[in-house]
Amino acid sequence: MKGVVFTGDRNLELRDFPDPTPGPGEVVIEIQASGMCGSDLHVYREAARPDGGDTGGIARVQGVIAGHEPCGIVRAVGPGVSEKQATVGERVMDHHYDGCGTCKHCRSGWTQMCLDGAVVYGTGGHGAHAHYMKAPAHTLVPLPDGLSFETGAAISCGTGTAWGALKRVNLQGGETIAIFGQGPVGLSTTQLAVAMGARVIALDVAPERRQMAEDFGADVVIDALSNDPVEAIRDLTHGEGAHKTLDCSSAPEARAAAVRTARTWGTACFVGERGNVTLDVSSDLLRRQITLVGSWTFSKQGQAECAEFVADRKIAVDKLFDTQTTGKAVILPG
Ligand SMILES: [Zn+2]
Ligand SMILES: [Zn+2]
Repeated sequence: MKGVVFTGDRNLELRDFPDPTPGPGEVVIEIQASGMCGSDLHVYREAARPDGGDTGGIARVQGVIAGHEPCGIVRAVGPGVSEKQATVGERVMDHHYDGCGTCKHCRSGWTQMCLDGAVVYGTGGHGAHAHYMKAPAHTLVPLPDGLSFETGAAISCGTGTAWGALKRVNLQGGETIAIFGQGPVGLSTTQLAVAMGARVIALDVAPERRQMAEDFGADVVIDALSNDPVEAIRDLTHGEGAHKTLDCSSAPEARAAAVRTARTWGTACFVGERGNVTLDVSSDLLRRQITLVGSWTFSKQGQAECAEFVADRKIAVDKLFDTQTTGKAVILPG
Protein backbone atom coordinates (compact mmCIF):
# COMPACT_ATOMS: atom_id res chain seq x y z
CA MET A 1 0.00 0.00 0.00
CA LYS A 2 0.96 3.65 -0.31
CA GLY A 3 1.33 5.86 2.76
CA VAL A 4 1.83 9.62 3.13
CA VAL A 5 5.04 10.56 4.96
CA PHE A 6 5.74 14.12 6.08
CA THR A 7 9.44 14.72 5.53
CA GLY A 8 9.55 18.32 6.84
CA ASP A 9 10.05 21.69 5.12
CA ARG A 10 6.58 21.44 3.54
CA ASN A 11 7.39 18.21 1.74
CA LEU A 12 5.57 14.96 1.73
CA GLU A 13 6.22 11.65 0.01
CA LEU A 14 3.93 8.86 -1.05
CA ARG A 15 5.94 5.79 -0.05
CA ASP A 16 5.37 2.06 -0.42
CA PHE A 17 4.67 0.03 2.70
CA PRO A 18 3.71 -3.63 3.07
CA ASP A 19 -0.01 -4.18 3.77
CA PRO A 20 -0.16 -4.62 7.55
CA THR A 21 -1.16 -7.92 9.16
CA PRO A 22 -2.46 -7.92 12.74
CA GLY A 23 -0.32 -9.39 15.51
CA PRO A 24 -1.65 -10.60 18.86
CA GLY A 25 -4.20 -8.13 20.26
CA GLU A 26 -4.17 -6.06 17.08
CA VAL A 27 -6.58 -5.25 14.28
CA VAL A 28 -6.23 -3.83 10.79
CA ILE A 29 -8.56 -0.97 9.87
CA GLU A 30 -9.37 -0.21 6.25
CA ILE A 31 -9.28 3.59 6.38
CA GLN A 32 -12.43 5.27 5.01
CA ALA A 33 -11.57 8.80 6.12
CA SER A 34 -8.36 10.24 7.53
CA GLY A 35 -8.60 13.78 8.87
CA MET A 36 -6.00 16.51 8.60
CA CYS A 37 -5.56 18.19 11.95
CA GLY A 38 -3.95 21.56 12.68
CA SER A 39 -1.02 19.73 14.24
CA ASP A 40 -0.59 17.73 10.99
CA LEU A 41 -0.04 21.04 9.23
CA HIS A 42 2.52 22.00 11.85
CA VAL A 43 4.48 18.77 11.29
CA TYR A 44 4.18 19.24 7.53
CA ARG A 45 5.52 22.81 7.60
CA GLU A 46 8.29 22.54 10.15
CA ALA A 47 11.97 21.95 9.37
CA ALA A 48 13.02 18.38 8.65
CA ARG A 49 14.03 16.39 11.73
CA PRO A 50 16.21 13.54 10.50
CA ASP A 51 16.61 12.10 14.00
CA GLY A 52 12.96 12.37 15.04
CA GLY A 53 13.20 14.19 18.36
CA ASP A 54 10.08 14.80 20.37
CA THR A 55 7.09 17.11 20.77
CA GLY A 56 6.17 18.04 24.31
CA GLY A 57 7.94 14.95 25.65
CA ILE A 58 6.31 12.56 23.17
CA ALA A 59 8.69 10.74 20.82
CA ARG A 60 8.62 11.44 17.11
CA VAL A 61 9.80 8.88 14.57
CA GLN A 62 10.88 9.86 11.08
CA GLY A 63 9.38 8.00 8.17
CA VAL A 64 6.11 6.93 9.76
CA ILE A 65 2.81 7.24 7.91
CA ALA A 66 1.12 10.51 8.93
CA GLY A 67 -2.49 11.02 9.95
CA HIS A 68 -3.96 10.82 13.45
CA GLU A 69 -7.68 11.15 12.77
CA PRO A 70 -8.40 7.56 11.67
CA CYS A 71 -11.84 6.23 10.82
CA GLY A 72 -12.76 3.10 8.91
CA ILE A 73 -13.82 -0.54 8.95
CA VAL A 74 -12.13 -3.42 10.76
CA ARG A 75 -10.87 -5.81 8.07
CA ALA A 76 -8.74 -8.27 10.08
CA VAL A 77 -8.30 -9.21 13.72
CA GLY A 78 -5.21 -10.80 15.23
CA PRO A 79 -4.90 -13.67 17.71
CA GLY A 80 -6.39 -13.02 21.13
CA VAL A 81 -8.79 -10.28 20.04
CA SER A 82 -12.21 -11.10 21.51
CA GLU A 83 -15.49 -10.45 19.69
CA LYS A 84 -16.31 -7.80 22.26
CA GLN A 85 -13.14 -5.91 21.38
CA ALA A 86 -13.49 -5.98 17.60
CA THR A 87 -15.23 -7.82 14.80
CA VAL A 88 -14.49 -7.82 11.10
CA GLY A 89 -16.78 -5.34 9.32
CA GLU A 90 -17.23 -3.10 12.37
CA ARG A 91 -17.22 0.69 11.81
CA VAL A 92 -14.65 2.24 14.10
CA MET A 93 -12.63 5.28 15.06
CA ASP A 94 -9.23 4.97 16.67
CA HIS A 95 -8.08 6.66 19.88
CA HIS A 96 -4.74 7.30 18.25
CA TYR A 97 -2.40 6.60 21.18
CA ASP A 98 -0.78 3.55 22.70
CA GLY A 99 0.91 3.20 26.08
CA CYS A 100 2.02 0.59 28.61
CA GLY A 101 -1.58 -0.43 29.29
CA THR A 102 -1.04 -0.77 33.03
CA CYS A 103 -0.22 2.68 34.50
CA LYS A 104 -3.00 4.76 36.02
CA HIS A 105 -3.36 6.98 32.96
CA CYS A 106 -3.57 4.06 30.54
CA ARG A 107 -6.11 2.33 32.80
CA SER A 108 -8.27 5.44 32.94
CA GLY A 109 -8.35 5.77 29.15
CA TRP A 110 -5.83 8.64 29.02
CA THR A 111 -3.20 6.59 27.18
CA GLN A 112 -1.58 9.73 25.76
CA MET A 113 -0.32 10.51 29.27
CA CYS A 114 1.22 7.06 29.83
CA LEU A 115 3.91 7.18 32.51
CA ASP A 116 6.18 5.08 30.29
CA GLY A 117 5.74 7.47 27.35
CA ALA A 118 2.95 7.22 24.79
CA VAL A 119 3.14 6.41 21.11
CA VAL A 120 1.10 8.82 19.01
CA TYR A 121 0.01 7.31 15.72
CA GLY A 122 0.86 9.58 12.82
CA THR A 123 4.06 10.92 14.41
CA GLY A 124 5.51 8.15 16.63
CA GLY A 125 3.89 5.17 14.90
CA HIS A 126 2.16 4.58 11.56
CA GLY A 127 -1.00 6.66 11.17
CA ALA A 128 -4.02 6.78 8.92
CA HIS A 129 -2.95 8.49 5.67
CA ALA A 130 -2.88 5.10 3.95
CA HIS A 131 -5.23 2.38 2.79
CA TYR A 132 -4.81 0.34 5.97
CA MET A 133 -3.75 1.03 9.54
CA LYS A 134 -2.76 -1.50 12.19
CA ALA A 135 -3.72 -0.69 15.77
CA PRO A 136 -4.18 -2.43 19.13
CA ALA A 137 -7.81 -3.55 19.56
CA HIS A 138 -8.03 -1.62 22.85
CA THR A 139 -7.60 1.68 20.95
CA LEU A 140 -10.78 1.21 18.90
CA VAL A 141 -13.80 3.38 19.61
CA PRO A 142 -17.10 2.38 17.98
CA LEU A 143 -18.49 4.74 15.33
CA PRO A 144 -22.22 5.12 16.06
CA ASP A 145 -24.71 4.34 13.27
CA GLY A 146 -25.65 7.47 11.40
CA LEU A 147 -22.24 9.13 11.72
CA SER A 148 -20.25 9.44 8.52
CA PHE A 149 -16.63 8.31 8.37
CA GLU A 150 -15.64 11.97 7.90
CA THR A 151 -17.41 12.86 11.14
CA GLY A 152 -15.66 9.98 12.89
CA ALA A 153 -12.32 11.24 11.61
CA ALA A 154 -12.98 14.73 12.98
CA ILE A 155 -14.03 13.31 16.36
CA SER A 156 -10.75 11.35 16.46
CA CYS A 157 -8.84 14.55 17.17
CA GLY A 158 -10.23 18.04 16.47
CA THR A 159 -13.86 17.67 17.55
CA GLY A 160 -12.87 15.29 20.36
CA THR A 161 -10.46 17.94 21.63
CA ALA A 162 -13.33 20.45 21.66
CA TRP A 163 -15.41 17.96 23.66
CA GLY A 164 -12.57 17.34 26.10
CA ALA A 165 -12.19 21.07 26.75
CA LEU A 166 -15.90 21.60 27.37
CA LYS A 167 -15.81 18.71 29.87
CA ARG A 168 -12.72 20.21 31.56
CA VAL A 169 -14.58 23.50 32.13
CA ASN A 170 -17.78 21.68 33.05
CA LEU A 171 -19.92 23.83 30.77
CA GLN A 172 -23.55 24.13 31.89
CA GLY A 173 -26.54 24.89 29.68
CA GLY A 174 -27.37 28.16 31.41
CA GLU A 175 -23.92 29.62 30.99
CA THR A 176 -22.26 32.01 28.56
CA ILE A 177 -19.02 30.83 27.00
CA ALA A 178 -16.60 32.94 24.93
CA ILE A 179 -14.56 30.95 22.40
CA PHE A 180 -11.44 32.64 20.99
CA GLY A 181 -10.38 31.30 17.59
CA GLN A 182 -12.81 29.64 15.18
CA GLY A 183 -10.53 27.19 13.41
CA PRO A 184 -11.52 23.51 13.30
CA VAL A 185 -11.30 23.01 17.08
CA GLY A 186 -12.92 26.37 17.90
CA LEU A 187 -15.77 25.79 15.45
CA SER A 188 -16.32 22.31 16.87
CA THR A 189 -16.40 23.83 20.33
CA THR A 190 -19.02 26.31 19.12
CA GLN A 191 -21.16 23.52 17.65
CA LEU A 192 -20.96 21.37 20.78
CA ALA A 193 -21.48 24.25 23.23
CA VAL A 194 -24.57 25.39 21.31
CA ALA A 195 -25.95 21.84 21.45
CA MET A 196 -25.23 21.75 25.20
CA GLY A 197 -27.52 24.76 25.57
CA ALA A 198 -24.92 27.39 26.37
CA ARG A 199 -24.92 30.93 24.99
CA VAL A 200 -21.89 31.13 22.71
CA ILE A 201 -19.82 34.23 21.96
CA ALA A 202 -17.46 33.30 19.10
CA LEU A 203 -14.40 35.39 18.22
CA ASP A 204 -12.11 35.28 15.20
CA VAL A 205 -10.18 37.68 13.00
CA ALA A 206 -11.30 36.02 9.73
CA PRO A 207 -14.75 36.90 8.34
CA GLU A 208 -15.21 33.43 6.75
CA ARG A 209 -14.67 31.75 10.08
CA ARG A 210 -16.99 34.17 11.86
CA GLN A 211 -19.61 33.37 9.24
CA MET A 212 -19.20 29.65 9.90
CA ALA A 213 -19.49 30.22 13.66
CA GLU A 214 -22.74 32.05 13.01
CA ASP A 215 -23.97 29.24 10.76
CA PHE A 216 -23.09 26.78 13.54
CA GLY A 217 -25.36 28.63 15.94
CA ALA A 218 -23.13 31.05 17.85
CA ASP A 219 -25.33 33.66 19.58
CA VAL A 220 -22.86 36.50 19.08
CA VAL A 221 -19.90 36.72 16.72
CA ILE A 222 -17.13 39.23 17.35
CA ASP A 223 -14.31 40.42 15.11
CA ALA A 224 -11.40 40.14 17.50
CA LEU A 225 -9.34 42.65 15.50
CA SER A 226 -11.71 45.59 15.17
CA ASN A 227 -13.29 45.27 18.61
CA ASP A 228 -11.78 45.19 22.04
CA PRO A 229 -12.85 41.68 23.01
CA VAL A 230 -12.64 42.37 26.72
CA GLU A 231 -14.98 45.32 26.50
CA ALA A 232 -17.28 43.64 23.97
CA ILE A 233 -17.72 40.55 26.13
CA ARG A 234 -18.32 42.60 29.29
CA ASP A 235 -20.99 44.59 27.40
CA LEU A 236 -22.69 41.32 26.51
CA THR A 237 -22.60 39.96 30.05
CA HIS A 238 -23.92 42.76 32.27
CA GLY A 239 -20.37 43.94 32.86
CA GLU A 240 -19.30 40.65 34.44
CA GLY A 241 -17.63 38.57 31.75
CA ALA A 242 -18.42 35.04 30.57
CA HIS A 243 -18.86 32.09 32.92
CA LYS A 244 -16.39 30.09 30.84
CA THR A 245 -13.81 31.16 28.26
CA LEU A 246 -11.67 29.10 25.97
CA ASP A 247 -8.71 29.87 23.73
CA CYS A 248 -8.38 27.75 20.60
CA SER A 249 -6.25 30.28 18.70
CA SER A 250 -2.85 30.00 20.47
CA ALA A 251 -2.43 33.77 19.98
CA PRO A 252 -0.87 35.35 23.10
CA GLU A 253 -3.34 38.29 23.05
CA ALA A 254 -6.31 35.96 22.72
CA ARG A 255 -5.07 33.83 25.61
CA ALA A 256 -4.76 36.91 27.81
CA ALA A 257 -8.18 38.12 26.68
CA ALA A 258 -9.68 34.71 27.49
CA VAL A 259 -8.44 35.02 31.06
CA ARG A 260 -9.56 38.65 31.36
CA THR A 261 -13.04 38.00 29.96
CA ALA A 262 -13.85 35.20 32.39
CA ARG A 263 -16.05 36.57 35.17
CA THR A 264 -15.03 36.54 38.81
CA TRP A 265 -15.08 32.87 39.97
CA GLY A 266 -15.18 31.89 36.29
CA THR A 267 -13.00 29.41 34.39
CA ALA A 268 -10.65 30.07 31.49
CA CYS A 269 -9.23 27.21 29.45
CA PHE A 270 -6.27 27.01 27.07
CA VAL A 271 -6.69 24.52 24.23
CA GLY A 272 -4.49 25.93 21.45
CA GLU A 273 -1.02 24.42 21.47
CA ARG A 274 2.44 26.01 21.69
CA GLY A 275 3.60 29.57 22.30
CA ASN A 276 3.29 31.81 25.32
CA VAL A 277 1.10 34.21 27.20
CA THR A 278 1.75 37.14 29.52
CA LEU A 279 -0.64 37.69 32.40
CA ASP A 280 -0.80 40.08 35.30
CA VAL A 281 -1.18 37.42 37.95
CA SER A 282 -2.85 39.51 40.61
CA SER A 283 -5.35 41.49 38.57
CA ASP A 284 -6.02 38.88 35.90
CA LEU A 285 -6.21 35.78 38.08
CA LEU A 286 -5.90 35.98 41.86
CA ARG A 287 -8.07 38.97 42.69
CA ARG A 288 -10.87 37.57 40.57
CA GLN A 289 -10.62 33.95 41.79
CA ILE A 290 -10.16 32.68 38.22
CA THR A 291 -9.64 28.99 37.56
CA LEU A 292 -7.23 28.56 34.66
CA VAL A 293 -7.06 25.09 33.13
CA GLY A 294 -5.12 23.50 30.30
CA SER A 295 -6.88 20.90 28.23
CA TRP A 296 -5.16 18.39 25.97
CA THR A 297 -7.26 16.11 23.76
CA PHE A 298 -9.62 13.56 25.37
CA SER A 299 -9.80 10.09 26.85
CA LYS A 300 -10.89 6.95 25.04
CA GLN A 301 -14.20 7.08 26.88
CA GLY A 302 -14.50 10.80 26.14
CA GLN A 303 -14.15 10.05 22.44
CA ALA A 304 -16.99 7.51 22.64
CA GLU A 305 -19.19 9.97 24.57
CA CYS A 306 -18.46 12.74 22.09
CA ALA A 307 -19.47 10.48 19.19
CA GLU A 308 -22.72 9.52 20.90
CA PHE A 309 -23.52 13.16 21.64
CA VAL A 310 -22.82 14.17 18.03
CA ALA A 311 -25.05 11.32 16.79
CA ASP A 312 -27.89 12.04 19.24
CA ARG A 313 -27.91 15.80 18.59
CA LYS A 314 -27.32 15.35 14.85
CA ILE A 315 -24.46 17.86 14.88
CA ALA A 316 -23.18 18.53 11.37
CA VAL A 317 -19.51 18.01 12.17
CA ASP A 318 -18.72 17.12 8.55
CA LYS A 319 -19.58 20.71 7.56
CA LEU A 320 -16.14 21.56 8.96
CA PHE A 321 -14.74 20.03 5.79
CA ASP A 322 -17.02 21.98 3.44
CA THR A 323 -14.73 24.93 2.99
CA GLN A 324 -11.10 25.77 2.55
CA THR A 325 -11.29 28.46 5.22
CA THR A 326 -11.22 26.22 8.28
CA GLY A 327 -7.86 24.58 7.62
CA LYS A 328 -9.65 21.26 8.03
CA ALA A 329 -9.39 18.57 5.36
CA VAL A 330 -10.03 14.88 5.05
CA ILE A 331 -8.42 12.23 2.88
CA LEU A 332 -10.82 9.68 1.44
CA PRO A 333 -9.80 6.47 -0.33
CA GLY A 334 -9.61 6.91 -4.09
ZN1 LIG B 1 -4.75 16.50 16.11
ZN1 LIG C 1 0.78 3.62 30.69
